[in-house]
Amino acid sequence: MAKSLFEDAVARLDEAYKHAHIDKESLNRLKFTKSILEVSVPVRMDDGSLQIFTGYRVRHDDTRGPTKGGLRYHPNVDMDEVKALAFWMTFKCAVMGIPYGGAKGGISVDPKNLSRLELERLSRSFIEQIADFIGPDTDIPAPDVYTNARIMGWMMDEYSKISRCYTPAVITGKPIPLGGSLGRDDATGRGVFYCIEELRKKRNWDPKDIKVAIQGFGNAGKHVANLLHQAGYTIVAVSDSQGGIYREQGFDIPSLIHAKNSTRRVKAVYCEGSVCEAVDAQHITNEELLELPVDILIPAALENQITQKNAPNIKASVIVEAANGPVTSQADKILTEKNTLIIPDILANAGGVTVSYFEWAQNKNGYYWGEEEVHQKLQTIMAREFNNVYSFMENKACDMRTAAYGHALNRLDDAIRAQGTHEFFSGQQ
Ligand code: NAD
Repeated sequence: MAKSLFEDAVARLDEAYKHAHIDKESLNRLKFTKSILEVSVPVRMDDGSLQIFTGYRVRHDDTRGPTKGGLRYHPNVDMDEVKALAFWMTFKCAVMGIPYGGAKGGISVDPKNLSRLELERLSRSFIEQIADFIGPDTDIPAPDVYTNARIMGWMMDEYSKISRCYTPAVITGKPIPLGGSLGRDDATGRGVFYCIEELRKKRNWDPKDIKVAIQGFGNAGKHVANLLHQAGYTIVAVSDSQGGIYREQGFDIPSLIHAKNSTRRVKAVYCEGSVCEAVDAQHITNEELLELPVDILIPAALENQITQKNAPNIKASVIVEAANGPVTSQADKILTEKNTLIIPDILANAGGVTVSYFEWAQNKNGYYWGEEEVHQKLQTIMAREFNNVYSFMENKACDMRTAAYGHALNRLDDAIRAQGTHEFFSGQQ
């Protein structure tokens, strides 16, 4: 029987355990989630009818601090997916050395079918249902797929009303006037970019020789495309849920972003001033994009995109996981045998949660930082942890995902041991 997403996620721990110096009790503890909540979310629709949606929030582990993780609005959201995403958050925060555990949540809904008012009522109603479960010192949500700063603003406002206290630190990814941080919007893409730049230094790449394909052109995909383009890399393909485009000479990314923002679809256009014209581009499917002859492939959409079926056809020598869980564990094995370097999600896309941590710290202090300061602090942490994971990989002769989990397991184990383990309580230590 095929493994569930959560089982597949947890299975990766056993390999990392072989390379980490941790207590077996710590490993077993991390295979379970701390607590789960499923709620019904009633919403009065614009036509007067009442519709009930299902929402979830999962806290995986809080040994290293309050739990942290996004809220996703997507028709495929279910408990298994949310548990896997919460598990990844625990390891992501540990990889980065930021003082949080992992959580995740979401609602099973297609937000494209809702009016703006329905979306607001849904978001406020969800917070009403989970208000006792979250809090600035217990569990702090953030945006994820198909949720954004505006939604975080509504949620913070609703929580503040319920708790009768202005509480910006309960949620991150908020609009700037409501306590958001400068530099949060592009933080995930920027973190992916900093990882690629660290790898470039190791491999002595000239950016203009490096061809990149990006699946998904939302928050994560758009920003990494823009930063790579500015640094001189050639972005030859991008896609969204409707399909993709390919152009061997590369695209002018600011023009693509302009087209996507105005038409909500990726289109190959070239803009000068406000005049845009279409340029030749080949239309491709999302499946074709993944198999293009490029140097770097960046999945930045959803999980389970690279499977044992298409892994043998992947030509990129480097995969950078901007999305969470885009490569299944079976595909991982095939790609590792082919010597494909995979910069894993728990490192590559951790820029978002890192700047969320900065936002929370600023909210708690009531003192706000400049954009350059945010970028610099993010770059310092991303470069430090990229190089920690890379050295772990070289020292243990393992793949980079195993190295990232091993590095995170060591940090989690330090915290679990400090609370006392079997050896301590049985007097062996
Ligand atoms: P988003 O909603 O802003 O964008 C998602 C993009 O994926 C859209 O362009 C959409 O059209 C596209 N898409 C959806 N289904 C697709 C499909 N089947 N094939 C190709 N493209 C498809 O979401 P986002 O915030 O950019 O998140 C993307 C991924 O990055 C998710 O896995 C998310 O968990 C991860 N992530 C996001 C953040 C963040 O701060 N936003 C942080 C860490 C990880």
